[in-house]
Amino acid sequence: MSPNTTPNAPKNNPAAPASEAAGEHKVSNFLRQIIEKDLEQGTYASRHWAGTPGDAAHHAAGPLDPAKIRTRFPPEPNGYLHVGHAKSICLNFGLARDYGGVCHMRFDDTNPEKEDTEYVNSILDAVQWLGFGWEANGQNHLFQASDYFDFMYRAAEYLVQSGHAYVDEQTAEQMRANRGDFGKPGVDSPFRSRTPAENLARFREMRDGRHEDGSMVLRAKIDMASPNINLRDPAIYRIRRATHHNTGDKWCIYPMYTFAHPIEDALEQITHSICTLEFEDQRPFYDWLMERLIEGHLLAAPAPRQYEFARLNLTYVITSKRKLAQLVYDHKVSGWDDPRMPTIVGLRRRGYTPASIQLFAERIGVTKSDSWIDYSTLEGCLREDLENKAHRGMAVLDPVKLVLTNWAEAFGADDYTEDCTLPALPHSAVPEGQTPPPDRVFKIGKEVWIEREDFEEVPPKGYKRLYPPRPGADGQMQPGNIVRLKGGYVIECTGCAKDVNGTVLEVHAKVIPDTKSGTPGADSVKAKAAITWVGVADGVEAEVRLYDRLFSDPQPDAGGKDFIEALNPNSLKVVTAYVEPSLAAAQPDQKFQFERFGYFVADRVDHVAGVKPVFNRVTGLKDSWGK
Ligand code: ATP
Ligand code: MG
Repeated sequence: MSPNTTPNAPKNNPAAPASEAAGEHKVSNFLRQIIEKDLEQGTYASRHWAGTPGDAAHHAAGPLDPAKIRTRFPPEPNGYLHVGHAKSICLNFGLARDYGGVCHMRFDDTNPEKEDTEYVNSILDAVQWLGFGWEANGQNHLFQASDYFDFMYRAAEYLVQSGHAYVDEQTAEQMRANRGDFGKPGVDSPFRSRTPAENLARFREMRDGRHEDGSMVLRAKIDMASPNINLRDPAIYRIRRATHHNTGDKWCIYPMYTFAHPIEDALEQITHSICTLEFEDQRPFYDWLMERLIEGHLLAAPAPRQYEFARLNLTYVITSKRKLAQLVYDHKVSGWDDPRMPTIVGLRRRGYTPASIQLFAERIGVTKSDSWIDYSTLEGCLREDLENKAHRGMAVLDPVKLVLTNWAEAFGADDYTEDCTLPALPHSAVPEGQTPPPDRVFKIGKEVWIEREDFEEVPPKGYKRLYPPRPGADGQMQPGNIVRLKGGYVIECTGCAKDVNGTVLEVHAKVIPDTKSGTPGADSVKAKAAITWVGVADGVEAEVRLYDRLFSDPQPDAGGKDFIEALNPNSLKVVTAYVEPSLAAAQPDQKFQFERFGYFVADRVDHVAGVKPVFNRVTGLKDSWGK
């Protein structure tokens, strides 16, 4: 990866936010209040920005920062991003957009784990797909933390020389034991009183590879009795012989995350460093480190400030890259982009739109206390986004053939077909003054596919769909039920054909001529219900993947539970369906509302328009279809 050289990097936040599209006003939250106060007070008004990250002198030589605030999204490139990251992306990029700021895209790659370019690329794709970018003010704000290793080392030497850090040679067990706990203050390390000169020599030996991995660490010298255990001389550098994807074998010592992250923020002139609540206890160290490095004139003032918000917990979903990786590597799902995965690539393939995810992030808001968000909130946002956008279409998911036995008698020939039309969008979905999209056209003929459940030989009470003639209470035969084939004719059920096991092979009915939808005779015969159907003449066979929740447990990994146990065995059902021609012609990724069933998307990987239609169910309709 080479940050700052990406050609045509997208502009910072080019897309209009979904909430605006949905006409929703931004709800204030504690972060917005903090930023508004900072802007009002001019907290960051006199900051300089040299155009690239750097130390105090670097920025001092640059102009005033054109960005009113700077935020950042700092993933570790060790997996695919998930819906929790989407919350953080929408938050950080969204705040920068709303307040005249810039959001940096930063890879937090200080851990010398093998970085995978597959992850790097997928992360950049995910952020862009969600509608955000890192180019602003003619500059490209894509950074990687490992570029700051030299500065981090310099900062560590400064702490050593100024008496704020020491090399500790206790074993890991001794260090743990001497750290104390909530009720017990820590015990000073016997190495704590070394002179800065001794510490500097030792630290340089560490850097020069003169000591074994794990034999010693550099610790900040703060307070072994602090009630905040994170301030009891936290480790800031460790020895680790590992080849780093960016710096190769240049280093055998690496900074700890708690030391690296504040420095990354400061070098990038971040103003509001927003992270999840588990970092709250680290904030005092963040501030301590910033004060030391500013007083040493290494970093520019004012320092970035850390603010914590509650991470997203979504029911029936796990949001841990490590656990998601396990699902992939154990083949519990088909890959990172399996439509059941809460990864951004999974949500995308499932049919979620960037606007629906932005709307979701806006709606759940940011708070300072943990809670669980119901999965249906996300589904609701998708419905809201697609309601007026997704074209309607008919699909038969559990097909049985309906034969209109009097077809030739009514229309002259068995092979006669007739065009039917229905609007692609209901009238209410088309904004005033806009031309509606062209109607869908599909054929009705002697044979059509209907849903198996739309015929009952012995109808349950209140059943309004197809059932054959049967004796009434008075013993007299009552005629079969009358329904409308949606957009087509009214028909009267006459019976069915069954196999030896009693399975219905065909449903039989009579077409009632002159009742076609949209013609003057349409209302001449009262139909009890309208049913969806697809013509045998022009219907196209399609694979439809009916996805359900991946887990049966609303909190699959809470309290250390084995989430593999909670996998829902019925999370995918594949059916062979028939779809009307307008659906079969879909482009990959195109979304539809299958009438009565919900929202579906043409699979972006497997669907081939007209040839091999493949659809994924995104979510059902809010209201279950009429009984
Ligand atoms: P994971 O445990 O899945 O690896 P992480 O927090 O370690 O998640 P990072 O790559 O370090 O992953 O995260 C990048 C950013 O995304 C961080 O600022 C982090 O706070 C944020 N983030 C991660 N998970 C969530 C979540 N569930 N809700 C909100 N923000 C999240
Ligand atoms: Mg992490």
